[in-house]
Amino acid sequence: MQVVVIPALSDNYIYVLLDEFEPQTAAVVDPGAAAPVLEYMVQAGRRLTAILNTHHHRDHTGGNAELLRHFPGIPVYGGAEDRGRIPGQTVFLRGGDEVAAGGVAAKVLDIPGHTRAHIGYWFSSETGHDLFSGDAVFGATIGNLFEGTPDAMFRSMQNIRALPPRTRIWCSHEYTLRCVRESAAVDAHNPRLAARLRTLEATAGMGRPTVPLLLEEECLTSPFFRWDDPGLSRLLGTPPGLPTFKRLCEI
Ligand code: ZN
Ligand code: FE
Repeated sequence: MQVVVIPALSDNYIYVLLDEFEPQTAAVVDPGAAAPVLEYMVQAGRRLTAILNTHHHRDHTGGNAELLRHFPGIPVYGGAEDRGRIPGQTVFLRGGDEVAAGGVAAKVLDIPGHTRAHIGYWFSSETGHDLFSGDAVFGATIGNLFEGTPDAMFRSMQNIRALPPRTRIWCSHEYTLRCVRESAAVDAHNPRLAARLRTLEATAGMGRPTVPLLLEEECLTSPFFRWDDPGLSRLLGTPPGLPTFKRLCEI
């Protein structure tokens, strides 16, 4: 599977998934806008065969209706709990369900917290592992808790951390530099996080996307994946585990 990154709106990423053995088709993840996706389809000579949504927010689903006008009848995937909130939704998924797109099977991950119905799509094949994580996780941080509790987000992060370390994380916004900077101020004793910030600052001017993130690096640098790190717990004055994670959510 090949992933095409399409910047959209102010700082969103829309992802087009290509099946290397199917040169005529493509699937799309979280089309917040239709125009850039249609433009890509025309230029690449491909037909859209599926829309995969991680959650109902408009910057992730705003292009659904227009895309369905151009490609009528294609399936629109989303979480079962998002019924009625995702335009054109036809498939209502739960954690553990499987879907196929881009010639690869994906396992659905229940990762609520940003919204109560947020899901992720974890693709796995011999070419590697790819997680489309919407607004659940960003570089060195998590998404805003709009509809979920820290407890729910903690379970979601546990589920993500349990994936293979080489999993590529395709999050839906370019927030990495800002969030790594904020987290480096909180977890000031993590030399790997400080080094990550220096690298990002040195390359920021080039305007290149920082996606995909790598789970392995997130586990070493994101405080939200290091709830059981003794040094971080000591720094925050909280016991390791959920209390440390909750404290991070308050900062
Ligand atoms: Zn969102
Ligand atoms: Fe978003």
